[in-house]
Amino acid sequence: MTIKPSPEPVNKLSLFAEEETIIREAEELLNTTLGRESRLTPHFEKLLKGYKRLFTQTKRIVKMADNLQKDLNVASDKLSELCKIDQLTCISNRRCFEDTYNLKWKLSLRNGTPLAVIIIDIDFFKQFNDTYGHAEGDTCLHNVAQALKGALKRPEDSVARFGGEEFVAILPDTNEKGAMLVAEHIRATIETLAIPHCKSKISDHVTISLGVSVMIPKRQDDKGTHFSQADTALYQAKKLGRNRAVLWDQTIGQD
Ligand code: GH3
Ligand code: MG
Ligand code: MG
Repeated sequence: MTIKPSPEPVNKLSLFAEEETIIREAEELLNTTLGRESRLTPHFEKLLKGYKRLFTQTKRIVKMADNLQKDLNVASDKLSELCKIDQLTCISNRRCFEDTYNLKWKLSLRNGTPLAVIIIDIDFFKQFNDTYGHAEGDTCLHNVAQALKGALKRPEDSVARFGGEEFVAILPDTNEKGAMLVAEHIRATIETLAIPHCKSKISDHVTISLGVSVMIPKRQDDKGTHFSQADTALYQAKKLGRNRAVLWDQTIGQD
């Protein structure tokens, strides 16, 4: 959702030019001999005074509206930012990921550069919740998410919470070797957090599994295929014992 209030700035100069001319001409008229001697002058002066008061009030209201517009713009920008953040983990949410993925896919297509996507899933997280409680599960998700974010080095790399205990990272201009290095670094980072998980079947601590797919997009390619390849690789990582990163290739899922 993007709320965009009218960006039109109020041009105060042109807005009040006519009124200011009227006041100036009226004052000049009052200063002429005719103006000073006319019987109507006191009435005219009274009217002009009222007009000037109204004019001052109008300018004040316009200034208030202008300030309100500025506040609204700031609030709107903040809201747009908030709409992209996952409240629990304080990293980008799925909606933000979709936008980023679309954009990076198009850029890779145009530049002929490889795009890597990594799907990350916490291992045995249901057991973690069952053992330590939902609140502790939430804290774990938050800490894992922040560690994932911190593990990415390049400014153009990004990570988002995809949903539940799943995250997704997008690495533009990254080949298979590079993507696997990043995936392994991410995996090791979470292991180093050493969050106790006494019911995990593979470790004393919380671990993650990662599915990696790298593609140099072509016109006929589908972003959905790219993503589902990473998902297939993740499934394979789970199958092979978890706490590992698997790179998608043609042979996966054929057994
Ligand atoms: P696997 O190793 O195969 O991934 O097993 P898993 O237990 O991690 O996967 P499963 O899909 O069976 O369970 C995911 C669990 O994640 C279920 C749910 O309790 C938990 N979960 C999902 N979203 C949240 C959340 O927002 N907060 C908390 N605390 N738990 C969540
Ligand atoms: Mg899952
Ligand atoms: Mg899981």
